[in-house]
Amino acid sequence: MKNFMLAALFEAHQAAAKNEVPVGAVAVVNGKIIARAHNLRESAHDPTAHAEIICIRKAAQKLKSWRLNDVTLYVTLEPCAMCLSAILQSRIPRLIYGAADPKAGAHQSKIKLKNINPLRQKLKVTPGVLAPDCAIILKKFFEKLRNKHFNRGSCRFSCFKRIAASRFRKIGESNSHLSDLSKH
Ligand code: ZN
Repeated sequence: MKNFMLAALFEAHQAAAKNEVPVGAVAVVNGKIIARAHNLRESAHDPTAHAEIICIRKAAQKLKSWRLNDVTLYVTLEPCAMCLSAILQSRIPRLIYGAADPKAGAHQSKIKLKNINPLRQKLKVTPGVLAPDCAIILKKFFEKLRNKHFNRGSCRFSCFKRIAASRFRKIGESNSHLSDLSKH
């Protein structure tokens, strides 16, 4: 079990090397990896390009079937609602993941599996495999991102303008309120 999670972690490192949020996944059938993937949301300009979705697509292509009845999916991070739904749709019976995602996780964190599983499909889930390793790569990635962001000379005002702009949009006001900021 740990070896397959290590393979998923390797995928997560591949994502980090591309400045993608480091999440990796592998699909396993009969003790063999048949598909590997990592998050590619930024480089593919695709909001659905999560590691799990790409891995499921690759596995289905490989098996020439959308029914992945014999697949065990390993993911470094607790899947979100979209990915958990895709896992259920593809009939994957077994999910093993590493770190919990308290913000967007759909298994144990935010959403309860039974709420997005109207067909009452059976999915056996094992959380927490190599969880510290899966979490640390994410922590380091976001730390690096934050440092890079705050060390950029001109960043403070552009950030402020962006935050302010989104606030104004949210409350339905014009961006003309920001004209004073553009002098900086
Ligand atoms: Zn996802």
